[in-house]
Amino acid sequence: MNIIEKADNFVLNTYNRFKLVIDHGKEMYLFTDDGRKFLDMASGIAVSSMGHAHPKILKAVKEQAEKIIHTSNLFYTDPFVKLAENLIKNSVFNKVFFCNSGAEANEAALKTAKKYGNSIKKNKKTEIVAMTNSFHGRTLATVSITGQEKYRKGFDPLLPGVKFAEYNNITDLKSKVNKNTCAVILEPLQGEGGIKPANLDFILLARDLCDKYEALLIFDEVQTGIGRTGKLFAYEYFAPVEPDIITLAKGLAAGFPIGAMLVKEQYSKILGPGDHASTFGGNPVSCAAANAVLEILLEKNFLKNLNDICEYFRNKLFELKGKYKQITDIRGLGLLNGIEINFPASDLVGKLIEHNILTVAAGSNVVRFVPPLIVKNEHFDIVIDALNKIFKEVK
Ligand code: PLP
Repeated sequence: MNIIEKADNFVLNTYNRFKLVIDHGKEMYLFTDDGRKFLDMASGIAVSSMGHAHPKILKAVKEQAEKIIHTSNLFYTDPFVKLAENLIKNSVFNKVFFCNSGAEANEAALKTAKKYGNSIKKNKKTEIVAMTNSFHGRTLATVSITGQEKYRKGFDPLLPGVKFAEYNNITDLKSKVNKNTCAVILEPLQGEGGIKPANLDFILLARDLCDKYEALLIFDEVQTGIGRTGKLFAYEYFAPVEPDIITLAKGLAAGFPIGAMLVKEQYSKILGPGDHASTFGGNPVSCAAANAVLEILLEKNFLKNLNDICEYFRNKLFELKGKYKQITDIRGLGLLNGIEINFPASDLVGKLIEHNILTVAAGSNVVRFVPPLIVKNEHFDIVIDALNKIFKEVK
């Protein structure tokens, strides 16, 4: 049996994998075991923020792994404390909780919201308002707040007390948030839901309603955080609005499993000892990788260059839209961009693979470009060239 046959034989069939066996990666490229070379515009679903085999990430990971790989949260280590300090000093938050994934970071946020809601003596707040078309993960609680039926189907009964407001619909949001609401959770830009940014007036209203009804405003920045949208965190686009909590994962440790919940001072004592935990949370190797990511991202001009590169790509995408009627929209922020097409996204993803380019669908008719943040204009030229060839063929 070859690797793919063995996987079919031994691995639970929960994914539709491409028939490619990745052997190794270098910078912007991935190499398969049969010698094919692919330009990586997917980053393992917006994770490999520094590309592949980045020397600074490798050095940080190697040095840490040689010292100690795991300690549990019964002890302190330097990398996890350094990462907490790094995240706090570069954000508007005051405390961090570490875990291993985006869904887990959202679980921590949900538990914070629930415990906060239950602590209010005169009127317990038990409801969470989430958004239609959202995506927050695959655990039972996070599918319960995910506003897409396809992820929820078959898992009833889900978490009670969840209401969905239509994303970017002010009237609907107003009708859903009230004195029973303990939290409003949203993605500042919906990723899996088709690359849809939130409108400023919607976010302003969410903040106002949360202030009025004393509910927590939670931004799920699992995909948008850590430079992905051209700023360190996407909430910065909505200044002066500041959420009470954000959740992070994906690009934070350049591929090492990590999740984090960042909390404002006012809500930092809701979870106390024994309320929440994670055996692997704050793993020193993951945290060392994350510290290296932040060091690179915060280098002078890194984010500015990233924004220039992103503008270059977006201009090219808009030119393409002018040329081909198959493209119905271009959406995104920074290096989280999607092209909406009038045929299945999976067909375009497949055609790009024929051109040795890896991308990832976001919903049924949007193809997402989420390259490592080290991408250059020349890589986008390769993508635009391939898209031109494909759209000329596909009528
Ligand atoms: N939240 C958002 C916005 C995401 O995009 C994802 C994953 O795609 C998740 C949460 C879940 O993250 P994980 O797969 O690490 O649990």
